[in-house]
Amino acid sequence: MIVMGIESTAHTFGVGIIDGEGNILADVRARYTPPRGMGIEPFNAAEHHSKEAANVLRDALSEAGIGVEDIDVIAFSRGPGLGPCLRVGASLARYLALRHGKPLYPVHHGVGHLELVTHYYSLRNPLHLLVSGGHTSILVLNECRYRVFGETLDITVGNLLDVLAREAGLDFPGGPVIESLAEKGGELLDLPYTIIGTSFQFSGILTKAIQLLKSHRIEDVAYSVQEVAFSIIVEAVERALRAVPFDVDGIAISGGVASNDTLYKKLGVMAERYGLKVYRLPKRLNGDNGVQIAVVGLRMALAGVEPPELSSTGVVQRWRIDEVDIPWAC
Ligand code: AMP
Ligand code: MG
Repeated sequence: MIVMGIESTAHTFGVGIIDGEGNILADVRARYTPPRGMGIEPFNAAEHHSKEAANVLRDALSEAGIGVEDIDVIAFSRGPGLGPCLRVGASLARYLALRHGKPLYPVHHGVGHLELVTHYYSLRNPLHLLVSGGHTSILVLNECRYRVFGETLDITVGNLLDVLAREAGLDFPGGPVIESLAEKGGELLDLPYTIIGTSFQFSGILTKAIQLLKSHRIEDVAYSVQEVAFSIIVEAVERALRAVPFDVDGIAISGGVASNDTLYKKLGVMAERYGLKVYRLPKRLNGDNGVQIAVVGLRMALAGVEPPELSSTGVVQRWRIDEVDIPWAC
């Protein structure tokens, strides 16, 4: 079986192609970069995706050495994400499915991040930490759903880093820039540490950090934001770990912010105390990509899920991950 996954929730237009064992045959992406000092403007990003879609598709097919007729299943990111961007991927996916008579599966983007890491390491049931531009959540798969054990109550950690960078006049995406600045910082500045049970908040950190930019070295602000935000996340994961009512086979970290080595190391120190390993994908696979969507498409096909009618494959901009049925976990 050959599965194609199409990703277009936000900054990245990606096409991933995998075989029936989940081996990656192609992973091609084009990324929209907003002008310095700006965030992602949905219509500009969608225009970028429209211009790049055919090139990305052509390059992915050529990387895999196949034609569209060789694809057995098509999957696309149905949401959550930016409406205009989502529609570019959805339109291409529907066109290919209709034109070539292929089954089409709409996929939840966040489920793609989680399933890619469990697939890659053949994990049975890890505790997941999903940290990206769209999500900051702690989850476990149980009885047909990803159950949210804790999450941000306001902005995501990706958003915290991206907006801080933007306010400091730095490039998008902010995460990698903040990470390299933080390596040159060392003075721990006072920032709000807000954790409520296994959930948490970051907007207080953002407001205070923007104020501190006026009086302190950006390296120290970046260092402090990472230290405080990541300590909050790790504490929430630890609390969740103690609350999960069954054994987990590791901690799986996914999403763009998973590429951050400080967060990964902090999580590892905590996990070791519980005799657990932290599973992180090769860095390239943490950020949005078509492979994560293809992996969910493959799991749907193998579970025998009936593809929906094309008329009910509309995009969904706001879509909680715990509303999605996971048939292969029932
Ligand atoms: P995604 O939406 O999964 O592609 O993740 C994008 C988010 O990951 C953006 O907010 C980026 O700033 C963030 N990100 C990417 N690389 C890093 C990094 N090395 N450290 C922290 N955040 C990162
Ligand atoms: Mg993502």
